[in-house]
Parts: sequence; C-alpha cells; structure tokens
Amino acid sequence: MNWFFKLSPCPICKTRASTQYGCCPSCQQSLFKPLRSTEVLALGPYDGKLELAIRHLKYHHITALARLFARELAKEITVQKWQADVVTAVPLHWQRYLKRGYNQSALVAKPLAKQLDLPYAQLLSRTEATRQQAKLSKLEREQNVATAFRAKVVTGKRILLLDDVFTTGATLRACQTSLLAAGAKEVRLVAIARAVQRFQ
Ligand SMILES: [Zn+2]
Repeated sequence: MNWFFKLSPCPICKTRASTQYGCCPSCQQSLFKPLRSTEVLALGPYDGKLELAIRHLKYHHITALARLFARELAKEITVQKWQADVVTAVPLHWQRYLKRGYNQSALVAKPLAKQLDLPYAQLLSRTEATRQQAKLSKLEREQNVATAFRAKVVTGKRILLLDDVFTTGATLRACQTSLLAAGAKEVRLVAIARAVQRFQ
C-alpha cells in the first residue's frame, strides 16, 4: 500500500486509515449489500455508510471512491451476465456542472467501462435545467424530467446507463426512454444506491 493513503483518515468512519480505494478496509467490507431488481442494479440501499460514501464522492470529489464503486458494479454486472456495447452516465445540466466542476455519475461510469473492457461515451445531454429533484413528489419528479434529455443516435446499441442514486427512478427512466427513441436495442439501469423511503 502506498504510504500516502495510510496518512489520510477514512472519510466514512473517520477513525481508521484510508486505503487507495477511498475508505478503510472495514468500511469497505460493510459498504455494499447489492440489490438486484430487474428494474435497476444497485450496490445497496441509500442509507448509512453507503449514503455517506456517495455524499463524499458528490461533494468532496473523492475519485478513489468512484473507482471502488466501479469495481463493485463491474462484479455485479458480470454476475448478472449483462452484455453491453457501451457505458454512459446521466448528465448534469451544464450550469450545475460549472458549479460543481464534475459529474459524479460519469466519475464512476468511466472506470466502470474500463473494468468491463467497454467504451465510455457521453450519449445524453440535458435540454433544460430541471428543478432539483430532492424536494419534489414522485409525480412532480416524473414531470420535471420527462423531456429533459436528448440522446445521440445509438442504433442497435446495448447500453449500460448509470446514475448515482435511484430515488423514484424518474431520471433514469427518462434517460432510458430518450436512448430507446434514439435507436438503442437495450438500456440497462445501474445505480450506486437505491433510495429506501417511499414516495407518494
Ligand atoms: Zn472506515
């Protein structure tokens, strides 16, 4: 192990030393409880340590965590025997991208593509700045994102589409619809975590 990583504390438990994967071995072992629904593949419910780890990725740009998520997702996708031609990520609107400086879903999708020996491509763009989903009801979320994405032509492609958190699924489904309309043969949905609370 590189000595540098031994000096930084684990961002999740803040007690043990971090590794090159962005957290300590103990947190890493208890981080994932894969959820394998037919609708979406996720590494666990969006709570506890996994929620904390995703927040660190999102707001503190810990790319080592992105590589850890990518490695775990690649394992799960291999177990599921999912075949794909290309990996892509849900885009941020450019205004939010400028503010944050990176797209946390693309940070994971790129090393995921590498792990699976597939190309990564940004196939979707936002056509409008949607309101932030966090405070909206399920119906409002669906309406908020229904026409928010445009896809490149992807005729006959099998696509793995990644977002950081699957909440109601409105965003991922809107992206999936755009890709299918642009000619995709199949679009599999992948998320780091899936929200456990119920939305009305
Ligand atoms: Zn830890």
